[in-house]
Amino acid sequence: MLNTEQIRKDFPILSRTVYGKPLVYLDNAATTQKPVCVVDKITEGYYHTNANVHRGVHFLSQEATDAHEAARRKVQTFIHAASPAEIIFTRGTTEAINLVASSFGGAFFEDGDEVILSEMEHHANIVPWQLLQHRRKIKLRVIPVLENGELDMEAYRSLFNERTRFVSVCHMSNVLGTVNPVKELVGIAHRHQVPVLIDGAQSVPHLPVDVQSLDADFYVFSAHKIYGPTGIGVLYGKEKWLGQMPPYQGGGEMIAHVSFEHTTYNELPYKFEAGTPDYIGTTALAEALGYVSAAGLSRIAEHEQFLLRYATEQLLAIDGLRIYGTAREKGAVISFNVKDIHHYDMGMLLDKLGVAVRTGHHCAQPLMRRFGIEGTVRASFALYNTQEEIDVFVAALKRVVAMF
Ligand code: PMP
Repeated sequence: MLNTEQIRKDFPILSRTVYGKPLVYLDNAATTQKPVCVVDKITEGYYHTNANVHRGVHFLSQEATDAHEAARRKVQTFIHAASPAEIIFTRGTTEAINLVASSFGGAFFEDGDEVILSEMEHHANIVPWQLLQHRRKIKLRVIPVLENGELDMEAYRSLFNERTRFVSVCHMSNVLGTVNPVKELVGIAHRHQVPVLIDGAQSVPHLPVDVQSLDADFYVFSAHKIYGPTGIGVLYGKEKWLGQMPPYQGGGEMIAHVSFEHTTYNELPYKFEAGTPDYIGTTALAEALGYVSAAGLSRIAEHEQFLLRYATEQLLAIDGLRIYGTAREKGAVISFNVKDIHHYDMGMLLDKLGVAVRTGHHCAQPLMRRFGIEGTVRASFALYNTQEEIDVFVAALKRVVAMF
């Protein structure tokens, strides 16, 4: 069992009030709050070890480099990658997907090739592929989402043909909470010799991830959704792919030799890390991963599953409330609407009662279209949320619904 009382002490923001009410923060799928140890790591980095990494001969630069590279190894072990060379630091999930679409797609796709996405993708896993369409006339094929929020696996199988070059799907939906059978998705794609990128933005904070066991070709996530800082994220890629892919951006760090006639590139992972990296951010990310490991991913999952079940039960008792996403495998996210009350109105009124939820299309407009809606209210849980907070949330929602 997680000791949430103790854990909440690690997150000072949770004890603040909004509009004079205790804050109930249920917008964790957008971003999580940060524990003291992560914020301290950032402060300590700037106060004690700040120096630009790599190539520095002086003491501080060496210390900063060591911390930055230790962070890379921490990420490697956290997601069970085979080598630190397979861990590329990016600004986040979005940049990681853009990197793969641009570099892999630009190098290996030809006009007429096809990329399979799903109907539940975040815009960050749709638009980079559309941008690539300006360079290559690729076709996007879409796995439909079933009524319960699961992927239509039969339809997925039938999308493969001799032009299929890539599959890019999320591990867990930020709207429906659906946890996709990614190992199966990868297995099917590999039978067609097609590589797969998994968008782990929502899964990494909630589930143990082993990229080798999943046999993922690429796996991406953002630090800020797993109690780490904003502006840093991870692209995992199999060395066999990263080694063949051209650089995404040019600049410092990613070169071996530069002349006006000819430039050669650095080895992995630096080939994909142009410019001064966010070395303070990477060490803070490592600290966040350490925090999660200490709490225990299986204990976190158990706690969040309890909150999910409890909240679902309580919400369904509200007349006219519909939950979008009832997959058998589901993470701690609940999207819903109540009758024809506008999601925005519910969100705004909940806010006045101290409850922070997200409203809108959640950067998944095609999925909204699939369900014939403009948006939903979304409550999403993290390791520090409590049963009492859910009671406050549900009571507040009942008050809001009664106003209409
Ligand atoms: N994919 C999914 C499934 C997400 O939930 C998000 C964030 N909402 C992203 C991608 C984009 O992440 P970021 O904004 O951190 O790059």
